[in-house]
Amino acid sequence: MIIAERKPIDEIVGMIQETKRVLVLGCRGCVTVCSAGGEREVEILASLLRLGMKKAGKKVEIIESTLVRQCDKEYIDGIDQWEGKYDAIVSMACGVGVNFIANLRPLDKVYPAVNTSFFGGSAEQGVWTEQCAGCGNCILHLTGGLCPVARCAKSLMNGPCGGSVGGRCEIHQDVDCIWQSIHDRLARTGKKADMDLIAPIRDWSSAGHGGPRKIVRDDLTV
Ligand code: SF4
Ligand code: SF4
Repeated sequence: MIIAERKPIDEIVGMIQETKRVLVLGCRGCVTVCSAGGEREVEILASLLRLGMKKAGKKVEIIESTLVRQCDKEYIDGIDQWEGKYDAIVSMACGVGVNFIANLRPLDKVYPAVNTSFFGGSAEQGVWTEQCAGCGNCILHLTGGLCPVARCAKSLMNGPCGGSVGGRCEIHQDVDCIWQSIHDRLARTGKKADMDLIAPIRDWSSAGHGGPRKIVRDDLTV
């Protein structure tokens, strides 16, 4: 899922200083699962914004709501129900949701309430770690299912840099060297010879280095 976390409250209060009516909009997708922008977080943010604006000596009316998703036109259209009742939207969705609102509602002011961070998962309560960088050309079949693009600090494609100590990354000592983990996993699963494969120079255009990416599925388009 996409992992995000709420921005510092002062930053969000700063965005709405000149706004009198705010629609705080959550999303029931990834940001609900990672506790950054679901129904509960909308309620908390609305209270904090009321308090923050009061402290700044300003009046604000806040509408609280949560859409099924903010990355889908069908649900963004649901904002029509509040037409004329808000001056700006504070979106608690990931950056995709904020962009979708901006794309589809050219006259609306929209501000981000969260920092969208990475694609990851939760191995324990309250802790999320990055697992995939959405590179568009997955090579996990060659690396024991562990991603060197997202999980090596240098995104090395042909084995370790040689700087790890005790299996820990030289850049972040609280993180395993993923190339050590790849090696160990390949060895455990009888695929150690895969470590000798030389990855060709990578074409990073599939990773977004050639501009915004798009997928069109002919079997689904009408
Ligand atoms: S190789 Fe690319 S697609 Fe596969 S997990 Fe890593 S970043 Fe994601
Ligand atoms: S120590 Fe390992 S994970 Fe860290 S940068 Fe070097 S190869 Fe990558």
